[in-house]
Amino acid sequence: MSETDFKEWPEQIEGFVLDLDGTLYRGSEPIPGAFEALHLIRESGIPVVFLTNNATRSREQFASKLTGMGFKAEARDIINTAFAAPRLIRESHAAGSAVFVIGARALERSIRKAGFRITDKDPDIVVVGLDRSLTYQKLRTGVRAILAGAAFYATNPDTLIPHGSELDPGAGTIVAAIESATAHVTSPIFIGKPETYMPNMALMLLGSKPENTVAVGDQILTDVSAGKRAGMFSVLVRTGVPLVQTSAIIPDRIIRSLLEIPIPQRSLK
Ligand SMILES: [Mg+2]
Repeated sequence: MSETDFKEWPEQIEGFVLDLDGTLYRGSEPIPGAFEALHLIRESGIPVVFLTNNATRSREQFASKLTGMGFKAEARDIINTAFAAPRLIRESHAAGSAVFVIGARALERSIRKAGFRITDKDPDIVVVGLDRSLTYQKLRTGVRAILAGAAFYATNPDTLIPHGSELDPGAGTIVAAIESATAHVTSPIFIGKPETYMPNMALMLLGSKPENTVAVGDQILTDVSAGKRAGMFSVLVRTGVPLVQTSAIIPDRIIRSLLEIPIPQRSLK
């Protein structure tokens, strides 16, 4: 990937879609330049949606994490896999369907709040995300339910996530374990990036044209891939997980800091 392969920035930017972990912050530390860049975006009046595959918090919890670090954000501007999961599932399953969740409390709570019944007995649907209390029993329940015909949803395929200066196994690692035992029956439906369900939700919220929407993230296989598939101008910021992935997906731009984005100033009329 050389500089000449890159596209020109859109002439008119109508909206921003920003990833969180590795893009705005790492753990509890804001990434240098991110605070200033978001401030400039807010000043420009261009709307922002925060889009994350992370299902371990609710949108309200993400909003307080962001504001606690000094970023200006509200719950309604945040789309994560915990929020999106019951909405996507509801497109193919009746309210009240039985769901077994391998994942964080925020994911389970969001699914329950949407009117689904949470159970480990004969579920119609299995939803798998990052579960820091994963047990063999949970794997067994999930695998058996899927083998018996339950629908298989997964929050996201990320196999590595940043944890301080180290890396942790992500939701995708747990999904892969279950997939390895059920691949002869079905394959998971992914809720998060690189699928376009969440980016399309973001476009609806922003009310922007995809080509005039700048999507920024630190991972090619999820952030850049999802952005491109949704028709957005997709930017890789090299502040997150190191580029261990080899991929045929070429970002529209690669930047080292969010401050490299040409953020327009609000026109004074
Ligand atoms: Mg990220």
